[in-house]
Amino acid sequence: MSVVMVGLKKFLPALFVALLMMSAAVFAADDGEVRVGLRDGGITSAALTGESGLEFSDAATGEALYTAAPGETVHVSLSGGGFAAEGRFTASGEELAVRSEGPIAYDGQRYRGRFLLKNGGGKISVINIIHMDEYLYSVLGKEMSDSFPMEALKAQAICAKNFVWGEEGRHGGDFDVCATTHCQVYSGVSGESEATRTAVDAVSGKAAYYDGEIVPLYFFATSGGATESVENVWGYAAPYLRSVPDPDEPADKASRYTWTVELTAGEIKEKLASAGVDIGDITAVTVDETTPSGRALSLTFTGTNGTHTVRKSACRSILGFNSQWFTVDGGSVMIAVGGAVQGGSVLTGNGLARLDGRSVLTAGGVVAFSGGSGDYTFNGRGYGHGVGMSQWGAYGMAMAGYDYEEILEHYFTGIYIR
Ligand SMILES: [Zn+2]
Repeated sequence: MSVVMVGLKKFLPALFVALLMMSAAVFAADDGEVRVGLRDGGITSAALTGESGLEFSDAATGEALYTAAPGETVHVSLSGGGFAAEGRFTASGEELAVRSEGPIAYDGQRYRGRFLLKNGGGKISVINIIHMDEYLYSVLGKEMSDSFPMEALKAQAICAKNFVWGEEGRHGGDFDVCATTHCQVYSGVSGESEATRTAVDAVSGKAAYYDGEIVPLYFFATSGGATESVENVWGYAAPYLRSVPDPDEPADKASRYTWTVELTAGEIKEKLASAGVDIGDITAVTVDETTPSGRALSLTFTGTNGTHTVRKSACRSILGFNSQWFTVDGGSVMIAVGGAVQGGSVLTGNGLARLDGRSVLTAGGVVAFSGGSGDYTFNGRGYGHGVGMSQWGAYGMAMAGYDYEEILEHYFTGIYIR
């Protein structure tokens, strides 16, 4: 029986490869190209240099316009509805194609692939068109340390690829992704390393699917012990973004596996003010509701002029915390039994208490005293939003011998790689 199983296992991959090759031919479902917007209309001229020279042509007609020598910098400016490079060429078309046999230098970085300059009504957009894998060589190194184990890097490469394929239309029609944190940080050749190239090549042509669709795969640095279901963070549900335990995350290595923040009532008041919330002096901070993993689902601030409640990811963002997973200590309102508040202390039912940063209910109402430190202690776990793959968890799983498919299948419920 076991012999038959081994035979099947050997046979099936070959069959799948054959099927994949067929579908690639029909649907062009290989890694394709990515259009990266390096500048989105913010400039009126652009300087390009090709180590192996540059070929300029009209993108619409294919008409050759100019060939630059190796190392020659060409300054392209807007000219009417088209472009001009002084003393070299003018082009009436609104799209200028730039090709080179080698890297193209633009704005301090070197890029693989080719360029497209677009005249968008008085502003130039600079677009780098590049093979998906070459794009990922650079992006991968920006999203995960290339010293991480290879299977973790491969899992991250799939996340980066699924981002491009799974979130089309973020920038309208001109390009697929920008080069900043809005999409994924991309810096051309300087972002690459031997490790990122090896990881990307190993998963070339592969992506993660849920129910036949390429889906966005989210990730973050450290879970602190368990990931979070997406509806408890961002407010929509997705069957593959479920809370899972994260037992391989190394508590001794992972960034901010646990953390502590101390804030005074005055500092919390300032943070609320930055969010446009004024409820007077802060007298209490309470986690009202938690998710099954332990993250804050509802957080209420009580002040001398009212209360303010935030939910889901706002529990983290309103105080600028590392994660949504924390508990609150301190901050109780003291009752001044005699009604007298003097100096920095008050006589309470439990004796004399210092007032720094605390609020006291006196006969004349609640009085807040600022200036102390650490009135509220927040003990937290994890770093990042908590949805999807923990990068440090992927590190731990790879170190424990899991491969990238097992890592992705752990963090993304019900997905498969093909
Ligand atoms: Zn973007």
